[in-house]
Amino acid sequence: MSKIAFIGIGRMGWHMAAHLAKAGHDVVVCDVVPGMADKWVAENSGAAVVSPTDAVQGREYVITSLPADRELFAVADGIVNELAKGTVWIDHSTTSAEGSRVIAARVADVGSGFLDAPVSGGVDGARNGTLTVMAGGDENAFASAETVMSAYAARMTLMGESGAGQITKMTNQICVVGVCQALAEGLDFAETAGLDVQKVIHVMLQGSSASWQMANRAEKMLAGEYNYGFSTTLMRKDIGLVLEEAASMNVPLPVTSMVGQMLAEVTAMGGAQWDWCSLMERQRRRKK
Ligand code: NAD
Repeated sequence: MSKIAFIGIGRMGWHMAAHLAKAGHDVVVCDVVPGMADKWVAENSGAAVVSPTDAVQGREYVITSLPADRELFAVADGIVNELAKGTVWIDHSTTSAEGSRVIAARVADVGSGFLDAPVSGGVDGARNGTLTVMAGGDENAFASAETVMSAYAARMTLMGESGAGQITKMTNQICVVGVCQALAEGLDFAETAGLDVQKVIHVMLQGSSASWQMANRAEKMLAGEYNYGFSTTLMRKDIGLVLEEAASMNVPLPVTSMVGQMLAEVTAMGGAQWDWCSLMERQRRRKK
């Protein structure tokens, strides 16, 4: 079993760290929110520390699940020079590809490995230990990381060199944003037409419009429940990363860009921390 530091035990990290502890790993957790690590330790077996610098001492693996580039760089400033030679740092945050390449180079300079390893599957995937990991970095570091990531991931794929994991995650987000807005429009349409929408979902899940969003979010969208999941703020962050990367390659992304603007409206409605399927709420309110 391995010595692991887990930094950032938010909506995703909490469950991933819990799976590692359950698998028998020696886990030290840390979060910038006061008391969060102690709360985690009250429910799981492991130790809590206050700073990332303390967390990485003597650890074979460092795992991060942080909001964005800014937090990743803040953590890197505190830990890179503290990493024992040969440590593998697995970063599950969704960040810019360039940011992950910069950190990978800094980590390589101290004799350790860094994987940009964003995930897909949502909070339920983290809770159930069925996440999909798309990684960029060194083959040996990835092979080593697979042994620990398998505690919470069902599929792990090395996509290429540093940054390739983030570019894959961006592709995933491009492919999903329009689907959620289309689902909001379809559900609103069926509801307004007076159909039994539960029945409509049941039928569509067996047809060509079935999607992860439909299977996992349609019921909650109909019920107007949004206090969980992947926040509007984080999805807007991802869309920002995608649009910047696309602009650098001159790839047009009209749908992604439009949904980004719609999510800005959800934020203005007070939905910054709602799951981003609250696009449904925007759809409903616009009719009134
Ligand atoms: P979150 O905001 O709930 O969790 C991030 C955690 O990092 C928070 O607890 C925060 O306090 C902590 N943190 C921030 N700065 C820190 C620092 N300097 N030191 C220690 N801890 C710090 O976010 P989340 O929903 O768990 O997402 C985490 C990452 O995973 C994001 O990059 C997100 O884009 C990605 N992601 C999320 C989901 C999802 O469904 N929530 C799905 C796929 C990918």
